[in-house]
Amino acid sequence: MEQFQKYSLIVDKNMSVISAGELFLNYIGKTKLSNLDQVVPPQDMIQLKNAVFAIDPGALGLTCFRIRTSNGKLNWIAANVKKDEEQEDMISMELSDIQTLKEDDTTSRIDPMTGLLNKQTITDYAISLTQVNPKKSFYFCLMDIDHFKNVNDAFGHMKGDEVITDVAHIIRDCVGTNGLVGRIGGDEFMLVLERVDTKPKVREVLSSVRETVEEKYKVMPEGMNITVSIGTAFYPDFADDYDALFKLTDKMLYLAKQKGRNRYIIYTPEIHGNLNEDAKVAAPKHQSVSESVKLKLMLRLMSHFLHMTDIPIRVALEDVLIAYDLDEAFIFYNGLNKCRYGIGRVDLEGDNFEVEDRQGSMTILETPEFQQLFDENGIAILNLFNLNKEKHKEIMEYMEQNGRRFMVVYHMTEGRKTGYVVFTNERENSRRLSESDILDLIYIGRMIEITSSDR
Ligand code: GH3
Ligand code: MG
Repeated sequence: MEQFQKYSLIVDKNMSVISAGELFLNYIGKTKLSNLDQVVPPQDMIQLKNAVFAIDPGALGLTCFRIRTSNGKLNWIAANVKKDEEQEDMISMELSDIQTLKEDDTTSRIDPMTGLLNKQTITDYAISLTQVNPKKSFYFCLMDIDHFKNVNDAFGHMKGDEVITDVAHIIRDCVGTNGLVGRIGGDEFMLVLERVDTKPKVREVLSSVRETVEEKYKVMPEGMNITVSIGTAFYPDFADDYDALFKLTDKMLYLAKQKGRNRYIIYTPEIHGNLNEDAKVAAPKHQSVSESVKLKLMLRLMSHFLHMTDIPIRVALEDVLIAYDLDEAFIFYNGLNKCRYGIGRVDLEGDNFEVEDRQGSMTILETPEFQQLFDENGIAILNLFNLNKEKHKEIMEYMEQNGRRFMVVYHMTEGRKTGYVVFTNERENSRRLSESDILDLIYIGRMIEITSSDR
């Protein structure tokens, strides 16, 4: 098995092999394998069987054991294990070779309290991933339970241990086979999301951890409001090596704590600035995004759109939303009852925010009152305070009811798909868009129009 290659294996509860792929057989140097005990040392077999026994049907578990490979060496394997919900005797494993170790190294690789990988193992794993050539991309996360000392103080260490273990299992279940999870300190965890290389995907995993933890403890007594803070950064784009990656991610965790906890922060240079080793974390002031960031974004979008390289529209809209300090962005095709793409900013405490998907209907755009606002280029720019109380009564009501203060609407009339691209600002303190920002948004609308009929 090449390092980091994933292999699937299905066994029953006695570790008899139900199915094993050819690559895996090559790795262990056998033409067939009837039971894992032929390649796993006896003491590891006991641990493996215990670990598998402890997993609930349908649930995921993570365990480590050693396996004898074709060259006679014992390699450590991390296995994501899943017991079939209906057939408990069908156990599927996804194996990763985490390190080639000395034959006599029987040191446990598992944190005994939580069953996650221990600090040494997950760290070794992350380091080894950063040393792969060509570089492998992955999201790296550090997570810490918020105000955990209160739990120990109010309910005692035993309860504290129980909370750490429960949170660990939530993380493991949410991460699933997207990566590996380890416990690196009292209430601290490290996630190496090897199967995650897009922002939407990392958001999905991290929000599910954040929400599941919050939800679980909502109903608990006073003082048990358990939440987690998470920092994350993408490798290799923003760090050259493991140390730099760890430091950057740790800064994001620190920022998440500083901003009020119970949140995740993904390192984004446009928001957090260029963080070199000694630089302090810049507060995420989206208002101060520099003009050069916008220019770079425009140039990038132009090449994506005009060369038709594959940029998901959702991702493009998100970048625009962040760079131009907007609150919402929508694309409607053929009708205004339901948007095709819709995203919106959710302000969290402090200056921090998340971007979420939004369903939107905007039938107001079809009214004669609104249609009059479009100029000959199909552009309507609305500022609530500049509208005419008599002429634009309906629109003003609409904007007030929806808390919108500013809208830039581009009417797509060309090609097979007609529709609208809409950008809005709604926050009390939202910055007014400059003339050049508005022009940029119109260009973006036009780029979307040009490429829409091909998507
Ligand atoms: P913050 O939101 O800033 O993270 O606040 P916190 O109270 O969680 O502070 P911090 O993460 O620094 O403290 C973690 C505490 O976890 C410190 C220690 O008392 C406790 N702790 C460390 N290991 C264990 C353990 O194995 N079991 C229990 N019950 N508590 C532990
Ligand atoms: Mg803590």
